[in-house]
Amino acid sequence: MVVTRFAPSPTGYLHIGGLRTALYSYLWARKSKGEFKLRIEDTDTARNNEDALGAIMEAFEWVGLDYDGTVEYQSKRNDIYKKYIDQLLTEGKAYHCYMSREELDALRETQMANKQTPRYNGTWRPEDGKTLPAIPEGIEPVVRIKSPQSGTITFVDGVKATMNFECSEVDDFVIARSNGVPTYNFVVAIDDALMGMTDVIRGDDHLSNTPKQIVIYNALGFTPPKFYHIPMINNPSGKKLSKRDGAMDVMQYKKDGYLPEALLNFLVRLGWSNKDQEIFSMEEMLELFEPTNINKSASAYNEEKLLWLNSHYIKNVSNERLARELEFFDCHIHGHDKKEMLLDLTKERAQTLVELKDAINIILETPSDYEAKGVKKFVKDETSLKMLENYVKLLEEKSDTLHLSIDYEAITKPFIEEFELKFPQLFQPIRLALTGTTQAPSVYDIMEVLGAKVTCERIKTACEKNFNKE
Ligand code: GLU
Repeated sequence: MVVTRFAPSPTGYLHIGGLRTALYSYLWARKSKGEFKLRIEDTDTARNNEDALGAIMEAFEWVGLDYDGTVEYQSKRNDIYKKYIDQLLTEGKAYHCYMSREELDALRETQMANKQTPRYNGTWRPEDGKTLPAIPEGIEPVVRIKSPQSGTITFVDGVKATMNFECSEVDDFVIARSNGVPTYNFVVAIDDALMGMTDVIRGDDHLSNTPKQIVIYNALGFTPPKFYHIPMINNPSGKKLSKRDGAMDVMQYKKDGYLPEALLNFLVRLGWSNKDQEIFSMEEMLELFEPTNINKSASAYNEEKLLWLNSHYIKNVSNERLARELEFFDCHIHGHDKKEMLLDLTKERAQTLVELKDAINIILETPSDYEAKGVKKFVKDETSLKMLENYVKLLEEKSDTLHLSIDYEAITKPFIEEFELKFPQLFQPIRLALTGTTQAPSVYDIMEVLGAKVTCERIKTACEKNFNKE
């Protein structure tokens, strides 16, 4: 059975790179009818923070990636780590090292001066026939693992193919600090092994950790999982993604009006493809995703694409869902009797829920301003006001017959003919009066949404204010 995990460190918010890793791990587990686990890597107590943890959980809930079992917290597993450290010490596979910070620094400096990669020199590594230095007073030892000193550490990465690391690149690294706290690579390896991970999918910034983790697997007799290291997401110029480019809190995407399905669709394509298909429902992702098809090269963040996907999903999810999502933006249209029409009218052009809300508010809220450029162009003089006055009269006379947009059309066409008007001559002043702009949807549709009474009131108000003209 495939078991994957997402293992964020709560040192900051969840960003899209992390979410993409989580998505791939989720898809692979669910597709294989396996398990997807969530583990919080909170051993770095100095850098952890509660808010970050809350933000990660909130983001997870928002995108709807459900995990199996309970969330595991590394901070609650110290006894387990201690047991394995003791076991390695007892078996002679790890040892205490009493080198002081000053000695380590001096060693590092000498190695750097000799153009060598800094590495522990094995002073306290027990060997047959070797006499270790006398244990110094007052130094709490760290625990180091005995890494193999020659040969190659090899693993087949599902994305990058066979990876070879010379053992000379991996020194006897620390697995427990002098205060007893285990180190990062140690706990990751222990947890992945004990939680039965078969497949570890993570960012390729962790590639250099993998040989160290394999040393631990081997020392404890655990079988390493299959690793997939995913290339980074860069900005469009191929540089590291910054906040300005989109490396922000996943929840910011919610605040900016993205639907989670658009973000997930965007992320699945950033680093994976299935021919030239762009739109993937969750069902399709689950059907088609294969970690072996993850791209080998870095991908580029593309905001246009995300907006394009978001407008696709805005057009394609139900109006019921849109109305629910809009509540978050303080736009409450559930009770509106023309809710369906209002959404049908506005969703075509909205790239985000924020734009959708704005388009809805333009229709629902009585305008206080009238776009000056449009007013200058379309409300030239008294004749425009007179025409609107006549039109309002007509609407009031016929108000009993006015329900649907075609009813408004039926009385407006003869009016245009009678006064020999061109369409924009009538429609643009009406659009301005009803919404304050000249960009709104079809006038007949807006009138249907507003009803004859509100339509007349708004036109009258605009005329009374002379469209706020100077
Ligand atoms: N906790 C690590 C991080 O947030 C991930 C570790 C892993 O996936 O092995 O970058």
